[in-house]
Amino acid sequence: TAETRDLAALIADVPDFPKVGVSFKDITPLLSSPEAFQACVDALVAASPTDIDVVCGMEARGFIFGAPVALAMGASFVPVRKSGKLPRDTVETTYDLEYGTQTLAIHSDAIKEGDRVLIVDDVLATGGTVAATADLVRRLGGSLVAVSVVMELAYLEPREVLGRHRIDDVTALV
Ligand code: IMP
Repeated sequence: TAETRDLAALIADVPDFPKVGVSFKDITPLLSSPEAFQACVDALVAASPTDIDVVCGMEARGFIFGAPVALAMGASFVPVRKSGKLPRDTVETTYDLEYGTQTLAIHSDAIKEGDRVLIVDDVLATGGTVAATADLVRRLGGSLVAVSVVMELAYLEPREVLGRHRIDDVTALV
């Protein structure tokens, strides 16, 4: 659609960041336009199921999109953070990155049994971050309903990873 093309034009390709050979998708031009940022949040809401109880956003850019989506939906916003940042009792999960590992944490009381949960992030790359977040949601008894992201790097085939984790309802705007 025209709107999707407008959004794509505001996501910059930065070659060789953070290292040689990687092309980084920079969403900051999108954020700098209030009209585009609003259209992006509206599109994420429109692409997602209704009756969501909790929106989970992952540190750090998942916060930027997840929080306004939660407000627009009248849902709770729950931050998923890197280990050591959340002050109260947490559940954590460790997963593999290209180099090394990453541990994500969520407050143990952030999701109630049966809550309908939506995961929101900026970029879906290998799918590892979303899969790890889904694991946290499910361990707290949440029902993962859908995943909505601004951009999917389809060439990394994240949906294969997500499929193995029984995450089927995934929408990318770009
Ligand atoms: P994944 O776990 O490989 O799917 O990586 C997704 C996570 O890394 C998301 O939380 C993104 O914010 C971040 N990420 C990966 N690649 C990019 C990129 O090119 N631009 C911005 N964020 C990225």
